[in-house]
Amino acid sequence: MTIFEKIVAGEIPCNKVLENDKFLAFRDINPKAPIHILIIPKKHYKNIQEMDPALMGEMLSFIQELARFIGVDESGYRLVTNCGENGGQEVMHLHFHMLAGAKLYWDKNPSNPQSTF
Ligand code: 5GP
Repeated sequence: MTIFEKIVAGEIPCNKVLENDKFLAFRDINPKAPIHILIIPKKHYKNIQEMDPALMGEMLSFIQELARFIGVDESGYRLVTNCGENGGQEVMHLHFHMLAGAKLYWDKNPSNPQSTF
């Protein structure tokens, strides 16, 4: 079981931001921006490559709702999902990173090991 499945199961605590019956949004434990929220489906999918496209549509609605809820829908945010080894995925349960709260730097060389987001 991945750490995010344990969070869904209530076995590990999280700093919850928004939840419905299918999705959960909570603060990243190691934030890379003033606002750094992880968004996950409660059902297990390893990554976006395995995600159900129909459920992905519902997840998009949840992400849009989250952006309104935390007040960044107008100011903007960055949405990132890392997929697989070359994508830098560490937790093998699909998640999106929502980064916001500042004008974010865009590293034009994502293969630079110093680069974050
Ligand atoms: P990935 O590299 O897989 O795209 O991102 C995994 C993210 O999960 C990282 O940003 C990391 O800080 C976060 N993370 C790892 N373990 C925990 C945890 O136990 N709780 C929370 N809230 N975030 C975690």
